[in-house]
Amino acid sequence: MDYETVMKLALERGFYFPSCEVYADAQAGFWEYGPTGVGLKNKFLQLWRRELIRRDGMLEIDGSQIMSKSVFEASGHLGNFADPIIKCSKCNSTFRADKTIAEITKIEIPESADLIEFDNAISQNNIKCQKCKGDFEKTKNFNMMFKVGIGPEEEEAYLRPETCQSIFVDFPRLYKTMRGKLPLGIAQVGKSFRNEIAPRQSLLRLREFYQAEIEVFCNPTKLDVVEKFEEIQDVIIRIQTDSEPVAMTCKEGLESGIIPNKFVAYYLGILTEFYEKTGVDITKSRFRKLGEKEKAFYAEVAFDFEVETTIGWLELVACNYRSDYD
Ligand SMILES: [Zn+2]
Repeated sequence: MDYETVMKLALERGFYFPSCEVYADAQAGFWEYGPTGVGLKNKFLQLWRRELIRRDGMLEIDGSQIMSKSVFEASGHLGNFADPIIKCSKCNSTFRADKTIAEITKIEIPESADLIEFDNAISQNNIKCQKCKGDFEKTKNFNMMFKVGIGPEEEEAYLRPETCQSIFVDFPRLYKTMRGKLPLGIAQVGKSFRNEIAPRQSLLRLREFYQAEIEVFCNPTKLDVVEKFEEIQDVIIRIQTDSEPVAMTCKEGLESGIIPNKFVAYYLGILTEFYEKTGVDITKSRFRKLGEKEKAFYAEVAFDFEVETTIGWLELVACNYRSDYD
């Protein structure tokens, strides 16, 4: 089924539809799940809880969506959670620098690249505003977090841009009150918020969206002691380091050094098993190992789990080995 057919079905049968759609000032990037959509989402979460959370005895929390400024100072999001943007000097339209360059020239510049790289690509390829052919100002960073003011003093706080922040903040208490034994998996399903410049493709690039996230805390000296590794060592995963995805078992991925340790290999394995059960065709999936500039600022090694669709490869899960960043 192509994207237009899926979209038509979603709207006609009440899976999902734009938020505030009867009003002229409805903002892009906000969508509602209708009754059938909620049913589908609940089914997915049931499977997620059964196959990942209960399978490994992880803890589930439900944290607050608004969090204080200090959290995002500490996490690095205030400084780093930004997209490169370009503004037209004539009509003031704003675009994502990386997306605009990729659309026009097919040159892929990672979003975390130095801003000068975008400026160079724009001048070398003579890229102009797509609306009015005007010139662009220099590339700037735009922080994607939604700021909120708390109380009459409007104290600075933010809507969380990813669900993991409450997991990190709550870890000391959870570690103490629950069982205090590593490895410890903590999970959370909930809303996250990102002030995207160009939300599009309905549920694929949203400003308010659900994430189902798991953070596993482990002893860094025991990354190769994973009791249940045998359960998944023969699961076939497709890993892409350069041009084409290569099928290999989790064990082979580990032995070849593509996967940094047994711990990461184990989770790539159970994630693959989970998605297979959701109905995703695993032969059309890949774990794309991200390059130095492409991965998030907190990650030491990162794999994006992606599936091939009629509109190209889509990222479903970001698998980050964060080492001791948090
Ligand atoms: Zn313009």
